Amino acid sequence: MLEVRGLNKVYEGQGRRVEAVRDLTFTLDPGELACLVGPSGCGKTTLLKCIAGLLNPTAGEVRLSGARVSGPPPGMAVVFQEYGRSLYPWLRVRDNVELPLRQKKTLTKARRRELVERSLDAVGLADAAGAYPWQLSGGMQQRVAIARAIAYEPEVLLMDEPFAAVDAQTRADLEDLVRGLWKDLGVTVLFVTHDIDEAVYLGQRVLILSHSPTVVQEQLKIDLPDERDQLHTRVLPRFAELRTHVYEEIQAAKRRASGGASAGKEAG
Ligand code: ADP
Ligand code: MG
Repeated sequence: MLEVRGLNKVYEGQGRRVEAVRDLTFTLDPGELACLVGPSGCGKTTLLKCIAGLLNPTAGEVRLSGARVSGPPPGMAVVFQEYGRSLYPWLRVRDNVELPLRQKKTLTKARRRELVERSLDAVGLADAAGAYPWQLSGGMQQRVAIARAIAYEPEVLLMDEPFAAVDAQTRADLEDLVRGLWKDLGVTVLFVTHDIDEAVYLGQRVLILSHSPTVVQEQLKIDLPDERDQLHTRVLPRFAELRTHVYEEIQAAKRRASGGASAGKEAG
């Protein structure tokens, strides 16, 4: 479904050179929910922008259903961390959700309205359709962003630390919302987070990223029961084992990064 091969991204300009992503290779199967976890600054957003066709990789490639991504592909939707900046404040909630659908020329107005209604309903915001984003809480705004993404009926949904700025209770609800939508819609999801517990709780698979310049350090199958809930899943002994494993891998990567820092500088 989604293939990332040998992806490298170097930012250059103003006399500064940053190799954000060194060499990333992984694939996602159709209908899979995979989490990418890595420390802040390791290039997660850079990677997602390359996958979404918003940024050109320096080397390597991204393929969606076999076709090389060179601009925003039609079958992809992205939910960013900063919901405050991703919604248009002058548009009502329903119009924010409808906006990307206008690019799909084959959709009738009636069908667009139907998709908007259905997706707002799916995220529990049917009542807020007529409100403006700034009249909603942070968690509600992020739900609008999710509704907008799913109304578009993407094959692949990319989420970049979407819950980093909401409170813990809302975050737990939104995590369950994502798993629920994923099951109902059969969409392929790539969920990016710096939060180890969140990655283990949500994913069928967790891809552990190293420190910058970034490579995929390990791919871990999450063999927790498919039915997950905040109360029971997080207290399972297996959950603790998995999160400990991810934590140790990230720590090991940190040590390797600081040990190999001089070599990295020479290369840069
Ligand atoms: P993450 O999302 O994992 O926190 P980013 O992808 O945002 O990481 O950033 C990875 C690295 O690339 C950081 O060192 C960051 O400073 C650098 N970087 C990101 N965007 C740019 C840019 N537009 N120009 C130069 N450097 C950038
Ligand atoms: Mg980021």
